[in-house]
Amino acid sequence: MIIIENSKELSEKVTTLKKESLCIGFVPTMGALHEGHLSLIECSNKDNDITIVSIFVNPTQFNDKGDYAKYPRILEDDLEKLKKVKCDILFTPSENNMYPSEDNREFNFGNLDKVMEGEHRPGHFRGVALIVSKFFEIVNPDKAYFGEKDFQQLAIIKSLTNQLNFDIDVISCPILREKDGLAMSSRNMLLTADQRANVKLISMTLLNAQEKAKSMTVSETKDWVKETINKNVFLKVEYFEIVDYTSLEPISSWNSEIEKVGCIAVQVGTIRLIDNIRFYS
Ligand code: AMP
Repeated sequence: MIIIENSKELSEKVTTLKKESLCIGFVPTMGALHEGHLSLIECSNKDNDITIVSIFVNPTQFNDKGDYAKYPRILEDDLEKLKKVKCDILFTPSENNMYPSEDNREFNFGNLDKVMEGEHRPGHFRGVALIVSKFFEIVNPDKAYFGEKDFQQLAIIKSLTNQLNFDIDVISCPILREKDGLAMSSRNMLLTADQRANVKLISMTLLNAQEKAKSMTVSETKDWVKETINKNVFLKVEYFEIVDYTSLEPISSWNSEIEKVGCIAVQVGTIRLIDNIRFYS
């Protein structure tokens, strides 16, 4: 594995690799790697000759300064984990390198960034779009891999790729979960033992909601999920929405013709977790 810290150096390296007709896969991360991240890397390895992974805690996508400050940064552990998979190039740029000057670009994602995470984390998706567009310009991969765990982010990145005409296939990968169902997340390591024991209720409730949906309306299902989770003293639902898979417009009645996904954000003390599940009603 080669570690590159400088974006110019990485661009030059990629140009050389492309001259050799090698297929490049790219997996952007913020580090504190877990099996979910490694599954993206494995997907990339299957499809490409070269896999480039980035680790960069992107300041512009944090609307909460406290969240940014406490976000886990454990590069030594990450390097150990990367040894277990094939990562050809690790890109670990500095903040100065990614943001040499202020970047005032704005993006238009229509409805996609107005709901859910967009509504509750103002500026978050602008920050995501800024960094991903910079990465795409530098890395210029053939394929880029993102997890369905960040379902709305995936929709934003597909839209960004179209709008900016990047010739990059955006590949979505399934959510990896802990044994008790909790969606893997770098933030899970910040949970106390008590919180950790209780957060499994989030995915359990989403799973049960799939069943409940067979006999409940959309509105009843949403209320049931929120009430069930909020009964637990450790958990507070920020939002739970059931939306059209593509447009992310909230749905008001079940329609088997459209693909539907229920997306949730839950506050656990000072930690905020997200998850989602498909509905087939
Ligand atoms: P992050 O480091 O949290 O920015 O995540 C980097 C990438 O890993 C994003 O595309 C995430 O959607 C993806 N990811 C995070 N958690 C999981 C998970 N549990 N399963 C699959 N992919 C994930």
